[in-house]
Amino acid sequence: MSAISMQPPEPGLRERFHQRSLDHQRPVSIVTMAFTVIAFLCMVAARTQVSGPAAPLAYRLLCALVLALLVLALPRARSPFAFGALGVAYLLVLTGGVVLNAGGVAQPLLWLLPALVVIPICAGPLWLTPAHFITGSVLFYACVIGLLLGIQRTPEVDAAVWTWVVAVGAPASAVFHFGFYRFRRAHFLLESQLAQLAATDPLTGLQNRRAFVKRAEERLAAPAPGGPLSAIFLDIDNFKSLNDRFGHAVGDHALFRVAQVLMDEVGAGQSVSRIGGEEFALLLDADLAGALRIAERVRAGIAGIERPDGLLSASFGVAEHRPGESFMGLLDRADEALLRAKQSGRNRVCAEGAVPVDAAGAVRVPHEGGGRVSGGPGGEAVGTALVDAAAGTARASAAAEASEAVETAEAAEAAEAAGTAVAPRHLWNDFALISHFQPLYSLSHQKQVGFEALLRGERDDGSLVPPATLFAPQPASDEGALDRASHAVHLDNARRALPADAWLFLNILPATFIADGYADRLTQIVRGAGLEPERVVLEILESHGGSVAEMSRAAGRYRQHGFLIAVDDFGAGQSNLDRLLRIRPDLVKLDGELIRATSHGTQRPILPKLVSLLHQAGMLVVVEGVETEAELILAVESNVDFAQGYLLGRPAREIAPPESVHRRIDDAFDVIAQGRAHQHALFESEVEPYRLELRRAATELRAGAAMDAAFATLAAFARCISCFILDGSGRQLGHEVRGPAWCKDTASLQPVANPRDARWDHRPYFRNAVLLPGEPVTSNPYLSLASGRPCIAVTLAEQLGTERCVVGVELDWSARGLPWPARE
Ligand code: GH3
Ligand code: MG
Ligand code: MG
Repeated sequence: MSAISMQPPEPGLRERFHQRSLDHQRPVSIVTMAFTVIAFLCMVAARTQVSGPAAPLAYRLLCALVLALLVLALPRARSPFAFGALGVAYLLVLTGGVVLNAGGVAQPLLWLLPALVVIPICAGPLWLTPAHFITGSVLFYACVIGLLLGIQRTPEVDAAVWTWVVAVGAPASAVFHFGFYRFRRAHFLLESQLAQLAATDPLTGLQNRRAFVKRAEERLAAPAPGGPLSAIFLDIDNFKSLNDRFGHAVGDHALFRVAQVLMDEVGAGQSVSRIGGEEFALLLDADLAGALRIAERVRAGIAGIERPDGLLSASFGVAEHRPGESFMGLLDRADEALLRAKQSGRNRVCAEGAVPVDAAGAVRVPHEGGGRVSGGPGGEAVGTALVDAAAGTARASAAAEASEAVETAEAAEAAEAAGTAVAPRHLWNDFALISHFQPLYSLSHQKQVGFEALLRGERDDGSLVPPATLFAPQPASDEGALDRASHAVHLDNARRALPADAWLFLNILPATFIADGYADRLTQIVRGAGLEPERVVLEILESHGGSVAEMSRAAGRYRQHGFLIAVDDFGAGQSNLDRLLRIRPDLVKLDGELIRATSHGTQRPILPKLVSLLHQAGMLVVVEGVETEAELILAVESNVDFAQGYLLGRPAREIAPPESVHRRIDDAFDVIAQGRAHQHALFESEVEPYRLELRRAATELRAGAAMDAAFATLAAFARCISCFILDGSGRQLGHEVRGPAWCKDTASLQPVANPRDARWDHRPYFRNAVLLPGEPVTSNPYLSLASGRPCIAVTLAEQLGTERCVVGVELDWSARGLPWPARE
């Protein structure tokens, strides 16, 4: 999984090196060559001090001027070739100038030899490439050889000159050139490697966020960015659970596999990045439709990657760049679409919200959330509202056409031809009635067990009718007409979509529920839709219409046909226990607010107790409105049977397979198991000092100590309300020894405030202590009649004199943050 090996070899590495060398070399060359111009001028000045015929001064000064101009041209040289050409020209002019300057002197070699040796040595490291070096050197030595052969000298001088030129000047210049060239090359490679590392995500080998954003911004800032550009933002679904359950190595491997899919599916040259954790982004040369197609391919590729508990999936948001838009703006819009993909069930592709309809006007904007959605399990049979943009205009047009038709054979044929399953339209006023299905999960089984059918109105343009309009009273029809129509619509839609082992939850108004003959009629409609009444749960809505007695009788009739009965929204409106106990529903749906409800005193949720109560009454419990992980955990912890809510699945036109929700529920179970163990340990450590001290006090009492003395230490403990002794029949012996938590202001409970009046042998803390004599036992929290606050009791059965007594201490357990026992 090496990062570097993932990247293809970089094109034009050599060219980039030479270009980079040019940038590095330019200042050194300018300084060295400018210095040489000055040195040449010094030589010209020195020559004026020497007698003998000289070349015209103007020629030599012209040489100096040309050299200076060549130096000035260096900063403007854009390419290594131009730079090398300037170098060659400079060298030849300099050599010519030096030779000109030495003309007419008695000892020309004294003037020329140092220059002929030093010039190539100085120029050696400055040549950018070996080609430049060889070209420059060949031309230089060609001139030098010609020149030296023309000068008369003794054999000794001759040998010395050739030795200096050939054995010192030429090899030294070659060594300097190739040595510096190698050094620059190694430096460049290291620099490139570092730059690549700084721009690369080490795990996947993709660009990291910084590099991706930088390149994308450069691309958008380019004077002519070219054709359309689109961004895809994707986030792996439920990745945390993969890490948490199977370890980070498995998570890392999954990230690597996703990166491979991205590289395989996206053409070379496109920008692909892991921009954070399990989030990836792409910038593509494509319009929205093209990017959607690619996103869908990638989605399908990722959906084929195995994880230990199933298959991986990812959600996608796609947006097309708008003129003048910043890259971050584009990414934000893709991110917003990604959020919708997550919210609408994950493992799908969502396009940006405000998308203009395409040229053919064929692709329709969906009803939910305002973006297009494609893919995902079941995403192919998407009906009229969800059209896979990638499928092209022909199919989309046919689907759109089909949707205009009302229950006609042509519509069905057109839909067939379009390859989409289009339901017949049920018209109501100026819109069509459609069903949205929201899944219900069994928490223990961690699977979908049913779907609640929810009524929606859809206009011809695909937009949804607001609920206020949909459910507005109709002057021309009775109150129940829409209710009855909704049952027909839902059953018609469920016929096509409902999985074989799932319940269908139908809402029903009390007035419809009790209407004469409706039980028979509904049974016919249900059977007509190919379902058995046993598969249908009737949810009696929370509204007026019908007495409890009428509803109870009607419930009997529906039951005879096989329907299951549920009471909706228990805890809201006019629901009460009497209604529940008389209708005796099979299921009770708790209003979402009840999940969030807490007890006044302790801020602890009341859901667990409520569920336990309903279970005791023989009813299964459904909670609605589960929106957060915390609510799901509470639902599981409270023994709720079924749950429904955005966290588990939003209402959607299509019934989607369960995907990964079971993992979410499984995670909630894990959290609870860990939490229970932790809670238990905390609770035990909190009550342990009281247990120890109670045991000590009981020993003293048995030895005959007075109550006040025996309880003195215990009664000083912070949470102690009072210490007491109960006789064998649960009546208090003597007085209670009060502790710091004793409460004086319990006026409202005054009539029951005195514990001495009462018998306590029915209380679990008395009974449990008697069952385990000599052992301190701790009660569950209960509401103290003496203080009106949540308390727990620590009690111990002890033989005091002739009587078996229960010695105990009542502790104030009302403070926030105190651990509660994890047992039931
Ligand atoms: P959702 O479907 O809503 O996106 O849920 P999720 O669990 O995928 O999203 P969440 O943002 O809750 O979790 C992302 C996790 O990705 C949290 C973090 O532990 C994990 N993660 C981030 N970076 C890495 C990494 O480099 N390697 C591994 N193995 N895990 C990482
Ligand atoms: Mg994430
Ligand atoms: Mg994620």
